[in-house]
Amino acid sequence: MARSTRPRGAATQRNAVTTAATQQVSVWEDDPEPGIQPLPDPSKQPMAYRFPAKAPAPGAQPGTASFRYWTAAEALHRGADFWAPRLPSGNWEVGARLPVLLDEGVDLNAYYHRRALNFFHGPAPSGTVYSGESPDIVCHEMGHAILDAIKPQPWGAASHEAAAFHESFGDMSAILSALQLQSLRSAILRDTGGHLYQNSRLSRLAEQLGTAIRAQHPDAVNPDCLRNAVNSFTYQDPINLPQMAPAAQLSSEPHSFSRVFTRAFFEALAGMLAAKAANSTSPTEQELLAVSQDMGDILVAGARQAPVVSNFYAEVAAAMVQVSAGKNPGYPPILKGVFLRRLILSLQAATTVEALHQSVTAAAIAPSAATGPLDTVALPASHYGLDQPLLVESPSHPRQFYAVSAAADASSVDPASSITAARAFVDDMFRRGRVDYDGIGRPEARLEHGHRLRTHELVREHGSIRLRRRLFDCGLQHR
Ligand SMILES: [Zn+2]
Repeated sequence: MARSTRPRGAATQRNAVTTAATQQVSVWEDDPEPGIQPLPDPSKQPMAYRFPAKAPAPGAQPGTASFRYWTAAEALHRGADFWAPRLPSGNWEVGARLPVLLDEGVDLNAYYHRRALNFFHGPAPSGTVYSGESPDIVCHEMGHAILDAIKPQPWGAASHEAAAFHESFGDMSAILSALQLQSLRSAILRDTGGHLYQNSRLSRLAEQLGTAIRAQHPDAVNPDCLRNAVNSFTYQDPINLPQMAPAAQLSSEPHSFSRVFTRAFFEALAGMLAAKAANSTSPTEQELLAVSQDMGDILVAGARQAPVVSNFYAEVAAAMVQVSAGKNPGYPPILKGVFLRRLILSLQAATTVEALHQSVTAAAIAPSAATGPLDTVALPASHYGLDQPLLVESPSHPRQFYAVSAAADASSVDPASSITAARAFVDDMFRRGRVDYDGIGRPEARLEHGHRLRTHELVREHGSIRLRRRLFDCGLQHR
C-alpha cells in the first residue's frame, strides 16, 4: 500500500536501476517496505490473471498507475506460484484467468466476487491510498479466490465460522505469500530474533490502509495496522458474540472473528519453525521457507477435508492436526497445543484427533463427505419484511468425527444445529444492512439501512426467495 505523497527515497532510488534488460522491477515487497523483484508475467499459467489494460512500462514512480500495476502483478504472481501446486486443476473458480480491477473508484475497500478481484482508492492523512498497491491486500483478496477454488461451499454457506475462515484464509495467504520473498524472510528473522510469533511487519496486515481507516474511525482498526496475526483473542461461539464491536473486542463480524483463527495459524507457524530448525533458537531463512510450504500444504488439505458445519473452525483445526502428521511427526503436538490454548479445540476433541491420527493415516480419511453441496433450508422471514420463507444454504455437511471447540472454562461447546447457525448468520446480515432486497418484500418493512456495500442479495427462484452471496467485502472495518 502506498500513499502518493509518502517519502519516496528508497523506492525511487531503486527505480533508477530498473531496466527492461535486468527484467526486474521496483515494487512494495511488503506493506510498507520497498524492494526489487523479478518482472512478473501475470498471464503465466497456471492460476493466471487478466488485467484489462495493457501492461505499462516498468520503472514508474510510487503513486503512479504503473507502479501500482507492477506491485500488484508481482504480489499476485508470487501468491499464485505459492498456491498453484496445491490446486491440481490450475483454475480459479471463474476459470483459467482471474480478472484484476486495480482502481474501481473511491472507497477504502477491496473485494472478491466471483468475476474479479476489485480494488479502490481513498483519502489518507498524507495523501491517497490505493488498496491495489498493497501486497498484503492483493494477496488477501487472492486468498479468497484460492479458497473458493479449493472449496466452493463456504462461499454460499450461511455460517459465521465459514465466512470468518474465508477472511482468515485471506490474511494467511498474505502472510504465506510474503514469506516467499527471501529478503523478507531474512528481515523478519533478524527483527524477531528467530521467534516468529512477535509483532512484526509480517504479523501486521495492511499498515497503510489501517492508517487511512483509523483517521476516519479511530476504534475500527488496530493501533498499528488493519489486523494483526499476533493478538490475544480466543475462541468463543460467534453465535453468542455481539454482531459488531470496536477492533479491541471480538465480534461475530467475519473480519473480527477471523483474528482468532489467524492468530492460531501464526502461532503454529512459529512453533513449526522451531521444531523444524536444526537450531531452534536460530532458524534459517531456508527453514522458514520450508515451513511456509509445509503450512500451505496443511492448510489446503485441512480446509479441503473439513466439513462445512456450524463449528467449522474446530473441524478445520482437527483436520490440520491430522494431515500435519504426514509432513513432520513434530507438527501434530504443536498444532494441537495451539488450537487447545486458543480454545478452537476442546481437550476432548484433541484427544479424539490424537486417537484418530494414531489409528489411521491422513490419506485414509476421505474428503468426499466435505465436498458435496450444502442443504437448503427455509427460514421464517416475516421479521425481515418478507412474506415468503427465505431459502439459505445451511452449514450442513455430514461430520466424519466430532470436533468441538472449548468454552473459557475448558468445557466442550456443543455446536449449534445447522439451522440455528444459519439463522444467526442471516439475522446478522440483515441487522448490518448487508442484504440488497432488489425490490423484493414490502418496501416499508425492508431492512435496507446504511450505505455499506451489500454482500448478499435476495433473488426470486422457483416461486421462492433465496439469499445469495454477491461478494466477500473486505470492507476492512470490523464494524
Ligand atoms: Zn476479505
